[in-house]
Amino acid sequence: MMILNNKELDLEINYFDKKNETLDREYLEKLQLTKLVKTVDQALKIEFYKKRLNGIGIKSGRDIKSFEDFKKIPFTSKDELRSSYPKGFLSVDMDDVIRLHTSSGTTGVPTVIYHTRNDIENWAFLTARCMMAAGATKKDIFQNMTGYGLFTGGLGMHYGAEKIGMTVIPAGSGNTKRQIQMMKDFKTTVVHATPSYMLHIYDIIVEEGINLSELSLKRAFLGAEPYGEQTRKKLEDLLKIDVYNSYGLSEMNGPGVSFECIYKNGMHTWEDFFILEIIDPVTGKVLEDGKQGEIVFTTLDREATPILRYRTKDLTHVYKGRCECGRVHRRISRITGRTDDMLIINGANVFPSQIEEVIMKYPEVGTNYQIFLTNKGALDKLTVKVEIYSKMFKGEISELDSLKKRIADHIKSAIIVNPTVELHEPGSLPVSEGKAKRVIDERSKL
Ligand code: ADP
Ligand code: ZN
Repeated sequence: MMILNNKELDLEINYFDKKNETLDREYLEKLQLTKLVKTVDQALKIEFYKKRLNGIGIKSGRDIKSFEDFKKIPFTSKDELRSSYPKGFLSVDMDDVIRLHTSSGTTGVPTVIYHTRNDIENWAFLTARCMMAAGATKKDIFQNMTGYGLFTGGLGMHYGAEKIGMTVIPAGSGNTKRQIQMMKDFKTTVVHATPSYMLHIYDIIVEEGINLSELSLKRAFLGAEPYGEQTRKKLEDLLKIDVYNSYGLSEMNGPGVSFECIYKNGMHTWEDFFILEIIDPVTGKVLEDGKQGEIVFTTLDREATPILRYRTKDLTHVYKGRCECGRVHRRISRITGRTDDMLIINGANVFPSQIEEVIMKYPEVGTNYQIFLTNKGALDKLTVKVEIYSKMFKGEISELDSLKKRIADHIKSAIIVNPTVELHEPGSLPVSEGKAKRVIDERSKL
């Protein structure tokens, strides 16, 4: 059990939808197969899937009789979704579509997902399940600090929070001083944001000289980008709150796919709405629980844009065993990064999250950092820029030099690459209100 702050200990385990969150695993798998039949029928209305499924002898959903049959279906890639932009994956009449969303486009052309009224309803239902699993109740004041618009974080969590009956403040992202003012004025108890924005919020709280006792904040739901256990710990310690990880992607609605319960021990993935598989990203082989690999999702209730065996590029593993909260839906670990986030620095494979984990261990540095890559000839140079936390220093140069060396040695032992560590003034590195851009790769391709 990994409860980091103790506030939750006297809290009851809440369920938004107890029956379906705790159902029998055997029944859950049968339910998945039943829903799969409908999903495949729905997918067959899309030209792309019709060709693909007919090609392997699947003419109707009823041809999928087992998970073995299901595993014969080829993966769908992000590029395939992109190449069908804008309407290639639409399987209902446009009159039945009530909304569309796109991905953030972090790694290229965005993908478009259409939603019917049922799709939107199901999505709200799932984000409600998530937030309640993480301790939210109708008594909470919920400040939603992610972008409202095409980005799925805003509207996705908004409707789930309303379903629970929380008081929703649709703040959107940005305007940090106002966000903090609202937290004070409305006695916000729960926030939703990206981890990088939450770190920035903390900086501004300090800058404005606000005492934590002026706030009523109890928990933060943070997601949309990778962050490590050290970042969680830092935020929990600094803000005296509980932080829960939230994972989702617009192709699977957005938030509401996987979420931590109050035990903070992996993210429950709603398997009555999605089939979760972990595959070896190189061979495509499905891996058993516990093995690290790429997440593959299949939608089970989507009407407007059903997606079969979607390769997310996100890396994680499934936790073995049941969670103490009683939910049967399997848990995934933190996302290490995307397969295409991996940096190759002088031949070594490095995920930015490994560097972040080291930086966040140092109370002497602030919450913002950047990873810079340049090259000279065949040799790559890694520079890690971090902001110092001015309160911790007496102003002696030797202190700063010793800190730089300690961080550099620590990073080197974590990733085997020797970095140059630069210390910067507080507030001098660029800040993001949504997904942070931490890595600047200026290496020229040879
Ligand atoms: P884009 O793929 O363009 O960023 P989305 O807004 O749909 O568009 O973002 C989904 C992606 O964000 C996921 O595939 C994953 O890489 C990342 N992500 C979302 N939540 C988390 C999380 N809790 N931890 C790590 N990465 C996350
Ligand atoms: Zn749990």
